[in-house]
Amino acid sequence: MSPIDEEQLQGLKGLRNFLRVRTSYDVLPLSFRLIILDNDLLIKKSLDILIQNGIVSAPLWDSQQSRFAGLLTATDYINLIQYYCQFPEHIDDVEKFRLSSLRDIEKAIGVLPLETVSVHPSRPLYEACSRMLKSRARRIPLVDIDHETERETVVSVITQYRILKFIAVNTEQHTMLLKQTVREIGLGTYSNLATAKMTDSVLEVINLMVVHNISAVPIVDKNNVVLNVFEAVDVIPCIKGGAYDELKSTVGEALTKRPEDFQGIYTCQEDDRLDSIFVTLRQSRVHRLVVIDDNWHLKGIISLSDILKYVLFTGVTSDEAELSAPP
Ligand code: ADP
Repeated sequence: MSPIDEEQLQGLKGLRNFLRVRTSYDVLPLSFRLIILDNDLLIKKSLDILIQNGIVSAPLWDSQQSRFAGLLTATDYINLIQYYCQFPEHIDDVEKFRLSSLRDIEKAIGVLPLETVSVHPSRPLYEACSRMLKSRARRIPLVDIDHETERETVVSVITQYRILKFIAVNTEQHTMLLKQTVREIGLGTYSNLATAKMTDSVLEVINLMVVHNISAVPIVDKNNVVLNVFEAVDVIPCIKGGAYDELKSTVGEALTKRPEDFQGIYTCQEDDRLDSIFVTLRQSRVHRLVVIDDNWHLKGIISLSDILKYVLFTGVTSDEAELSAPP
C-alpha cells in the first residue's frame, strides 16, 4: 500500500463534507413507492410479494402494536434455510411460519439477531453511513415520528448502494481527485477468498456466505477464472413456492433463475483508479466489483462497504474528527 497523496486526501475530505451537509431525505427520489409487509404475513407469501414487485427487502410492520418491526432481507430467508436443514422434520412448520416467527428461527439456529438500527431521515447522511458500517447492515430503515400520534413511521429504506450512487452522481468534482489505484490504497479483500464452482450445490454456497458473513461468492472454474457471482439475493427465487429441495441443485442451475433485467457482474483490475470505479458506480447497478487480472483470474473482491469505509475513515484529520463526533 502507498501513503495517501494530497490530492486523494482533498477528494476524500470533499466527499465527507458532502455527506455531512446532505441528509437521507436528499437521497430519496421525489416520488417513490414503499412496500411494507405486515408481520403476520406467511413467510411463503412474502417471497411471492418480493418477487412480484422486483424487490429484495421490505420493512415489517407490527399492526397489533402499530410499530415498525424490523427489516426483512435475504438474510432472513438464509436463516430459514438453515433452520430447514437443521430441523428437516419440521418442514410442515416451515410452510406455516409467519414473518413474526423470524426471531424464533434466529434463536432456534443460534444466530445473533441483527441489530435493528434505524436513522432519522433528516440526520446527516454521514451518520446513516457510519451506522450502517458499524452494524454491518447493508440497508437501514429511515424512521420518523408522527408528531400528532407520537407513533413511528417508516419513510423509506436507504442502502449502501443508493448512497454510493448518490455520491457518484453528485460529487464528480471530488471523485475525480481520487487518482490512486485499487492496489495503492489496498481496497477490498485479496486473501482467504470464499469461492465456489458451478457444480457446487446452492446449499454449499449458502453455507459459505453464513460462515464468512459475506453477501456474495465468486463462481470460478478449475483454473480460478471468474465465471459469475452468486449473491445472497439469488436465494430468493430458489425457494419460491417452498421448493426447498431445489437448494440441492447446482449453482449453475440456480443462476438461470435470475430476473430478466439482471445486468451482469462488474469487474475491475488492481491498477484501476478509484475515480474510474466511481464512474462505474455512476453508470451501472454495481453491488460489488470482482477484481481480476488480464486473463479473468480471480484476484479479489471489493464490496460496497469496502468503498464506503475507505471514503469515511481514511486519512481523517483531527479537525474533521471533531465534526463527525455525535452531538
Ligand atoms: P457488503 O457488506 O458490502 O454487502 P460483503 O458482506 O460481501 O459486502 O463483504 C464484507 C467483507 O467481506 C468485505 O470487506 C469484502 O471485501 C469481504 N468479502 C466479500 N466477499 C468475499 C468473499 N467471497 N471471500 C472473502 N471475503 C469477501
